[in-house]
Amino acid sequence: MTDTIVIAELSKGQISNATNELVTAANQLGSNCTVVVPCTDSTVANPAGSISGVGKVIAAKSDVFSNYDASAWSEALDAVTPSGVIVTSASAQSKDLAARLAARRSVSVVQDVIAIEDGILSTPIYSGKAIQKVSVNGNSVISVRANIFSPADNSGNCEIQVIDTTGNVTTALQEMVQRASARLDVSEANIIISGGRGMGTPANFSHLEEIADKLGAAVGASRAAVDTWDEIPHSMQVGQTGKTVNPNLYIAVGISGAIQHLAGMRSSKYIVAINKDADAPIFQHADYGIVATWEEALPVLSSSLSNLLA
Ligand SMILES: Cc1cc2nc3c(=O)[nH]c(=O)nc-3n(C[C@H](O)[C@H](O)[C@H](O)COP(=O)(O)OP(=O)(O)OC[C@H]3O[C@@H](n4cnc5c(N)ncnc54)[C@H](O)[C@@H]3O)c2cc1C
Repeated sequence: MTDTIVIAELSKGQISNATNELVTAANQLGSNCTVVVPCTDSTVANPAGSISGVGKVIAAKSDVFSNYDASAWSEALDAVTPSGVIVTSASAQSKDLAARLAARRSVSVVQDVIAIEDGILSTPIYSGKAIQKVSVNGNSVISVRANIFSPADNSGNCEIQVIDTTGNVTTALQEMVQRASARLDVSEANIIISGGRGMGTPANFSHLEEIADKLGAAVGASRAAVDTWDEIPHSMQVGQTGKTVNPNLYIAVGISGAIQHLAGMRSSKYIVAINKDADAPIFQHADYGIVATWEEALPVLSSSLSNLLA
């Protein structure tokens, strides 16, 4: 079987749980899974050593990993990553990296994998309207969407090798400004409640936040909402030109269900739609639909949740 290599997904400088999901995906594609951890401090790689199903961890140590630069990262990782099938996450940065790594190695790249069955990869195309099945022979790079594969547990124990590497930084990042928000990002959430133009005003998003706090959910938005209201940041946008999400539960409130919005969330496990228009396209994709204004539906949902959680 082909050797597999997972490029660890990092969140705020630490290995994120998505890495465990990538290990599960990698072990369905081949064997001898190695996890490569891009880091400036090799201790960051330690948690990868306990992921079950991992044969070896390589802490790829370099100053270039302090900030993302596609050229430098792909060069530095290419130098230390064994050959085989490389698996990355399908976050925007990791998809960029996947393409760069594939180009450096002159191998195929398959992006946004949502299923693996007998070595056949499924990926959505045409904004998710169709699913493409791809078989890969030999070395390649694939990116895998979050929340599809169950995460490997942390009962493993394997060797961690530290390798110094370097790359040529071509884009010098001057400053990273993170928008101050204590809220969970939609790309990391298992439950998302999103609002659209039907919310009427940005202040009404507080009703979504109230429910999000009860559910431990992130708050998302349609493009119409982020384009119309400055108070709703673009980082919340779900869809073709926003973020692709794949939560267990997606609640769409006052969102019509345009194809471009569906492109970012239609693979959610359960979709609930609240819309006052019974003919809104979102209902064709919803597992549960509530034909009502949000003004009617959200207070009921909120108090039901309070009773459930009491
Ligand atoms: C190239 C391109 C890329 C795009 N990318 C994206 C993208 O990434 N993400 C995205 O979302 N869109 C994207 N769009 C825009 C997309 O086509 C739609 O315009 C947009 O999704 C509509 O947002 P909406 O559903 O919030 O607004 P509307 O279409 O205005 O729908 C509002 C809905 O709210 C309902 N409503 C109104 N009042 C209430 C109420 N009180 N209670 C309950 N329901 C109510 C209405 O019945 C209606 O269905 C893109 C468009 C293009 C051309």
